[in-house]
Amino acid sequence: MDLYYEDKVTGAYDVASTQAGAFGGSMLRDYARLEGEALTRKLGQRAKLAPWLEFEWVDAELPHHEAVGQVVLHAVSETNRRLQWDASESVLVSVLTTEADTREYGGYCVDKVPYDKICLPRSACSHPERLAHVVAHEAAHVVVLNTAQKVAPQWLDEGIACLMEGRDAATASARLTSHDAWRAAFQMGGAFEVDRRDPTETPGVTAAYDEATVLASYLHSLKGDEGLVELLKWMAPKLNLGFVFKRLARMDPVDMALRQVYGFGQRELFAKVRGGPR
Ligand SMILES: [Zn+2]
Repeated sequence: MDLYYEDKVTGAYDVASTQAGAFGGSMLRDYARLEGEALTRKLGQRAKLAPWLEFEWVDAELPHHEAVGQVVLHAVSETNRRLQWDASESVLVSVLTTEADTREYGGYCVDKVPYDKICLPRSACSHPERLAHVVAHEAAHVVVLNTAQKVAPQWLDEGIACLMEGRDAATASARLTSHDAWRAAFQMGGAFEVDRRDPTETPGVTAAYDEATVLASYLHSLKGDEGLVELLKWMAPKLNLGFVFKRLARMDPVDMALRQVYGFGQRELFAKVRGGPR
């Protein structure tokens, strides 16, 4: 996994391939990702789209790679602009080989060193509009990760990503209400963690993304993109006396940041959005 997080994926694959089923198979999901990324590295090539953005693809599987690269560059740039991110952490966007098992996701983002990595299934590249949505979603995860320094809760991380992707909060809210699927804040984390290859989990996963969309859209309706950026910045650990004092008083950083920017805490936020969009 150390090699994987340095994106030395072929080396990691060589180490892991003899032990993929270890620990009772608990590593198999990570292994599927590693395998997909390693096969792509072996078959593919890389080019810079910008000084801070690299692109990886398999030529034979992506004859329109130049057009795909342009959509990727535009979508990441637009997300960075909206969320005021200076791209000080580089990004590698990898279109995974069709040999990768990508059934579980539409795309994913990994916090690596020396760059963050966005992986996309080949199927995401079949239509430019769809591709732009998927890339904007994953690019938002990169910004949230770096701006809030890993403190953002998953509902906020996914909510901002869904908002940047352009998901409709009114549709999401109506679906939650009709399925009676609203969750409380403490129930949200686990909802994103389930094994998505299991079709019985699909309604719960859809509901979690819907609620994240509604929550982020509500915050967005109050203070726009700027409010969300401010919220993320307030969550990040800071070295000032007020912050240290609040942490010593065991205040939750998410609650602290929400109160600071919007004037209400997490419980109130969840209560406000339930039952319809504002
Ligand atoms: Zn996401």
